[in-house]
Amino acid sequence: HDLRNEDLKDMQELGQGNGGSVKKVEHVPTGTIMAKKIVLIDAKPSVRKQILRELQIMHDCNSNYIISFYGAFISDPNICICMEYMDKGSLDGIYKKIGPIDIEVVGKVALAVLEGLTYLYDVHRIIHRDIKPSNILFNSKGQIKICDFGVSGELINSIADTFVGTSTYMSPERIQGAQYTVKSDVWSLGISLIELALGRFPFSDSSSDESDLSDFEGTLSPARPAPLPPMTRAQKDKKKKRKSRGVSLQGGGMTMSILELLQHIVNEPAPRLTPEGRFPKEAEDFVDSCLLKTPDERRTPKDLLKHAWIDHSRTATIDLEAWASTF
Ligand code: ATP
Ligand code: MG
Repeated sequence: HDLRNEDLKDMQELGQGNGGSVKKVEHVPTGTIMAKKIVLIDAKPSVRKQILRELQIMHDCNSNYIISFYGAFISDPNICICMEYMDKGSLDGIYKKIGPIDIEVVGKVALAVLEGLTYLYDVHRIIHRDIKPSNILFNSKGQIKICDFGVSGELINSIADTFVGTSTYMSPERIQGAQYTVKSDVWSLGISLIELALGRFPFSDSSSDESDLSDFEGTLSPARPAPLPPMTRAQKDKKKKRKSRGVSLQGGGMTMSILELLQHIVNEPAPRLTPEGRFPKEAEDFVDSCLLKTPDERRTPKDLLKHAWIDHSRTATIDLEAWASTF
């Protein structure tokens, strides 16, 4: 029953993140297909063992909305985490392949994530801490499940530094150094839902709204920015190039764009499901309530399960299995 690395046969690489990589593997003795996450950790053996102990909680996380866990082991210098394989991958991959995701499907995603978060918090007092489209997985049975939640405090500490570059789903209060709460996950959910519905990360401006663009530029200066002169064509071209790589968190100029983004999240109004009228009112309202900038005003996942749009999503008859078969 104990998982051993020598029983796992590599099949294919599923993706790479900041903390490590994920492979599709077969557990040869049982024929089970799994996803094996390899996390490189620069820590003492005692810390690795502690992480492994903490990860065992995942054995008790049983929910239709949470990726199931097969086991974890140390394979020096890595920690390997074996979990349920989801054959349609993560939602970021899906929208990058098929474009903006139908709002009815996005509603089902919202429902699944809220159910998953509520389960983790109510039953295990776990806060996810990393809700984003790449951590929401989908399979051909039409199931939606979340993965990569913060079960191990030691693991969070050990890889915290390497995660700096991806903290773009971070809530304003987190950016300002406040404690994590379940409401921070709600913010991240709001950002993720807009991303899925629009087919692009909401803070990256690939739309043509010129004024929006210069606002964004203005957040570079620490003080309240003075109105900017119109951009030259060269500047615009440069900007386009940068934006088209996503939010340009990788590559040159990295520090500046992260700062720019973090300041924008803290100082500017939250993004919305736009343009107005394109999406159902209830969906717009749901996203707005996820993205209230003051955590006191923002509702918890459990509370949001009662929202009208979620009620609607629960009873919506859209066939996710059929949808899955279209890509
Ligand atoms: P970050 O490291 O910033 O959190 P990430 O979530 O993309 O980014 P990983 O968690 O390492 O990075 O995952 C890499 C990719 O592997 C994901 O984008 C996803 O597409 C794929 N993946 C992860 N877990 C599974 C799984 N259980 N089943 C199928 N694919 C998976
Ligand atoms: Mg992940």
